[in-house]
Amino acid sequence: MTDGKMPLRAKVASSVSRTAAALSRAAGRGDGSVIGGWIGLKIDPDLLAHLAAGRSIALISGTNGKTTTTRLAAAAVGVLGPVATNGFGANMPTGHTSALAKAGQTPYAVLEVDEHYLAQVLIATEPRVVALLNLSRDQLDRAKEVAMMAQMWRTALAKHPGVHVVANADDPMVVWASAGSPAVTWFSAGQRWHDDSWVCPECGSPIERQADQWWCTGCSLRRPVPQWVVEDDGVVDPRGAWHKVSLQLPGRVNLGNAATALAVAAQFGVRPTDAVSRLSTVASVAGRYAQVVREGRNIRLLLAKNPASWLEAFDMADVAPTLLSINARDPDGLDTSWLFDVDFSPLRGRQVLITGDRAYDLAVRLEVNEVPFQHVRTFGEAVKLVPPGRLEVIANYTAFQDIRAELDRVL
Ligand SMILES: [Zn+2]
Repeated sequence: MTDGKMPLRAKVASSVSRTAAALSRAAGRGDGSVIGGWIGLKIDPDLLAHLAAGRSIALISGTNGKTTTTRLAAAAVGVLGPVATNGFGANMPTGHTSALAKAGQTPYAVLEVDEHYLAQVLIATEPRVVALLNLSRDQLDRAKEVAMMAQMWRTALAKHPGVHVVANADDPMVVWASAGSPAVTWFSAGQRWHDDSWVCPECGSPIERQADQWWCTGCSLRRPVPQWVVEDDGVVDPRGAWHKVSLQLPGRVNLGNAATALAVAAQFGVRPTDAVSRLSTVASVAGRYAQVVREGRNIRLLLAKNPASWLEAFDMADVAPTLLSINARDPDGLDTSWLFDVDFSPLRGRQVLITGDRAYDLAVRLEVNEVPFQHVRTFGEAVKLVPPGRLEVIANYTAFQDIRAELDRVL
């Protein structure tokens, strides 16, 4: 894309969008990408399409891991040249518009897409690659909504047969959504959370699992053979070559995200040998996984926003003192009954502290799982109660923001 080829209205809209985002940043109102994109789209409703034209684009969607995978994939595709990306989780069309306007002319873009907006963004950006990570319930959504989302993806992809799909072979919902696409690369990133995929989306029969495999007992839907697989502390590519992946991000979940990023980059012609070293440059993603040393404690922040991501957080966390914090404000969802969907028993044997607006809901949940805990009022109090060394902090959305603010302010 060159600015010269854009219609005048799109040029004006793009420029105003950049200016509005800059003004918003200058006023200290976040990174400005939402307001900038919103104004740009008001002036030119086709601005996203105009900004996307001429770029090779990858979209990354799913319930969990999309911000991290987008960062890793952008780093990997960066082997080839400048990449536009929405690195701060502004994952709706306003955020995409703003990211592309701000980046100026880049040959590539890697965009995180909210799963509800995938159909719309497919139309606007005509991507080369779409990566589908997983589908699970978010807060109080139920499995029924998960099946509806899979149906929406499937319908949307059917209208774009030229798109290459990179999809998670371990998630039956993702496999079913992708199975109709002519070109699919399968990766195996694992699936810890199975509660939203016991029923086949094709025929309604039960799905059975054994080790890594899964299959429908009523139809032909089963786990496809993945071409990209996590093995030990590395990733096996489609030719069978193993590549060591050294990440600054914790856990096997992030190795899975790395495998996805390498599979996406391969669709742009990037060889995994050239990309792996770039993956290790990603240290924290919008504050997640950030490590801060205070009073001799090495504090690491993990965000967990829904049942599946709590299980992943337990996997990422070291066996070390752990602070859990739960709020139930608007962005978190007001009902905390989802806590009962999560098995907290992996925390047994660790020193567990709890805080947040809804710490008492957490207390009830931990009692049921027979995990001893202490309640603390503030983050600072938690720091004083644990010995020097690692302190893992696992928090849901606004609790995470509160702790980040408290880290900046108090300690
Ligand atoms: Zn079936």
